[in-house]
Formats: sequence, structure tokens, C-alpha cells
Amino acid sequence: MESIFSKIVAGQIPCYKVAENDSFLAFLDINPLAKGHVLVIPKVQVDYIFDLDEETFIQLHLFAKSVAIAMKKAITCNRIGVTVIGLEVPHAHIHLIPINEVNDMNFSNKKLTLSSSEMLDIANHINSFF
Ligand code: AMP
Repeated sequence: MESIFSKIVAGQIPCYKVAENDSFLAFLDINPLAKGHVLVIPKVQVDYIFDLDEETFIQLHLFAKSVAIAMKKAITCNRIGVTVIGLEVPHAHIHLIPINEVNDMNFSNKKLTLSSSEMLDIANHINSFF
């Protein structure tokens, strides 16, 4: 079945796009743990990240690195945290989260509610450093 992220790739549902190339897409998480919480996905739908072929796995991480570098320039924070959960959406993705302390990576924390104009501004701001 087509994942919600495949529908984003196909343009069937919208996203706050941060960066893109032929094979990968980065966009804001709709329920962010922090301002600038980004998801990085391969455009080809594979559920489990460790089932990706080696080349796609490597290129996904290199793309995520370039997105994280742009995020660090765009957002004031100590680090860009990296994690993979994958329990909710069956389409491999990397979470990139601006953090100041370890608890900022806690997915049990309350998610932020940001307006669509704030989300758009954040996505465009990160993109301007990409
Ligand atoms: P997980 O699969 O456990 O890594 O969680 C999936 C993540 O995708 C969650 O953080 C959701 O908030 C996020 N998410 C789900 N649907 C969308 C969407 N349409 N646009 C952006 N992020 C989404």
C-alpha cells in the first residue's frame, strides 16, 4: 500500500518541503518535537530502513547530512539530533531534530503546535542554507 510519504512524493498531499533531489526528499514533521524537526526520506517506498539497498542507504545518509548542515546554519541549537523510529509510517525516514539537551530527543515530549505560516517560514529558512 502506498504510504503517506509516497503520497507526498507524488504531490498528492502537501508538505513543508526543506530540500529535494532526484532520489530523496526532506520536509518538516507535521508534529514537531522542536522548530525545524525534519524528516528525510528516499522517494522509493521501503518500509524498514535496514531493508534499503546499500547505495540508497548510504546516499540517504549523505543527503541527511547536507540537510542537517543547512539546519544547523538556519536554527540556533547545540546539535542536530538524528534518530530513526519508523513505528508509525511504513516508509523509511530519518528524523533530524534541533536539540540543546538530550531530553529534546524524547518522543514522549509534547509536540509543538505551529501555524502553517510558521512552518512555511521554517522550511524556507532551512532551504535557503541548503
Ligand atoms: P515514526 O514512523 O514513528 O518515525 O513516526 C512518523 C513521523 O511522521 C511522526 O513524527 C509524524 O508526526 C510524522 N508524520 C506523519 N504524517 C506526516 C505528514 N503527512 N507530514 C509530515 N510528517 C508526518
